[in-house]
Amino acid sequence: MDDYTAEATPWPYFPVFLKLAGGRVLVVGGGEVALRKVRLLLRAQAHVEIVARELHPELKDLHAQGRLYHIGQSFNGEQCAGTRLVIAATDDRALNREVAAAAHDHSVPVNVVDDPEHSSFITPAIVDRSPVMVAVSTGGSAPVLARRLREKIETVLPAAYGRVAAFMGRMRRSAQALEPAARKRLWEQFLDGRGAERALLGDEAGAAREFDRAVHRASSVGEVYLVGAGPGDPDLITFRALRLMQQADVVLYDRLVSPSILDLVRRDAERIFVGKGPKQHEMSQEEINALLVRLGKQGRRVLRLKGGDPFIFGRGGEEIDRLAAEGIPFQVVPGITAANGCAAYAGIPLTHRDYAQACIFVTGHARQDGALELHWDQLARPGQTIVIYMGLGSLPQLCARLVEHGLPGDWPAALVEEGTSPRQRVVTGTLSDLPAKVARAGIKGASLVIVGEVVRLRERLRWFEPAGAAENGNSRA
Ligand code: SAH
Repeated sequence: MDDYTAEATPWPYFPVFLKLAGGRVLVVGGGEVALRKVRLLLRAQAHVEIVARELHPELKDLHAQGRLYHIGQSFNGEQCAGTRLVIAATDDRALNREVAAAAHDHSVPVNVVDDPEHSSFITPAIVDRSPVMVAVSTGGSAPVLARRLREKIETVLPAAYGRVAAFMGRMRRSAQALEPAARKRLWEQFLDGRGAERALLGDEAGAAREFDRAVHRASSVGEVYLVGAGPGDPDLITFRALRLMQQADVVLYDRLVSPSILDLVRRDAERIFVGKGPKQHEMSQEEINALLVRLGKQGRRVLRLKGGDPFIFGRGGEEIDRLAAEGIPFQVVPGITAANGCAAYAGIPLTHRDYAQACIFVTGHARQDGALELHWDQLARPGQTIVIYMGLGSLPQLCARLVEHGLPGDWPAALVEEGTSPRQRVVTGTLSDLPAKVARAGIKGASLVIVGEVVRLRERLRWFEPAGAAENGNSRA
């Protein structure tokens, strides 16, 4: 951003691509080195004039074919007049410098081969994927390095890249009708999608089809649907969620979204797994936010599917905050949060006239050093149900701290694993024995902890018994 400020390292050269077609270029010298330069100049369709006592055989051929002009045996300054560029390529250093001085006098840019000090321009190492052209320069300080870099770039730029650029060039006119922002979206869409791939393969018709599709998408504004998918049972998603799942053309989902819910998403929608397991962050939150913005800008209808409710321990707020800042339309669809789903399917009411007049949701996610930062005094209270999300790992610590802060050791507590799914397991116990029971049951899946006297009600209110529940560690303890 501050490229032009005084603090930035000054550039010894200004990079440009010069139009030379039909323009006169003077080359002084007729050997191997001159030949290399002449070849490049002819590619740029320059009108090449050579001054040399003797011409390299290949230059002679070019001369015979009328592709260059041998205007003299010896150099004089006047030959520079009216030229666009001058190249001094003789093996006589003094003569080269004389050429450079004459070019300076005529205000014509000059390149003295292998002599940057006397050159007013230098030629870069190039990667030619016409019309794509990559030019590498080290400012004359390390030509070998420049060539190395060029080789590297050669290997990462598919040779057919020129086709993509050529195709885009041909389509430019059709894209002109769009607003500048939409045009940019169009090309991003084209390059990210199958369009570029088709063009790379030389499938002109396929590329054109993808281009039309991208035009269509780019002219419509995208939208992001932040949708709560509920705790697992697909029957628990809302009608609105289902409708949007059928509309979206790309879906971003995390680990908590079950395959049976993903099955409800439109069949041809693109699916992107963004992970977020406890220790395996496939994509950082920042990357997810950026991806949502990018897809939205491409005019796509993006379904951001989250387990439970997007606004409960889901970071949904952060995601749409970014969208709002970027002016991308969005809507938020609530979902049944794990606390509601697990409580219902475990037969544990979260509030009850006699046992709990309040219910509090907290996260049991420990800090990096393993410490839990919770307001224990506010939690360890009778007449209140505590629901702990992400508390499996810290369960022993959680139970111990609650007892330390005043709850009785025989205070009821339960853990619900993969609540509402056919794999649901419920382990009930007390603050003293729950951690050991959970360890014995080998609980590993998404788990919710419920602490409070309401847990006792399960004995009478349990109703959901998934197949194999009995041997699954469900206990009536
Ligand atoms: N936004 C989600 C919560 C995300 S945090 C929601 O509203 O439910 C992830 C935690 O939610 C898990 O660690 C677990 O504690 C809990 N959770 C989510 N689904 C669950 C399920 N089916 N059974 C038990 N716990 C679940």
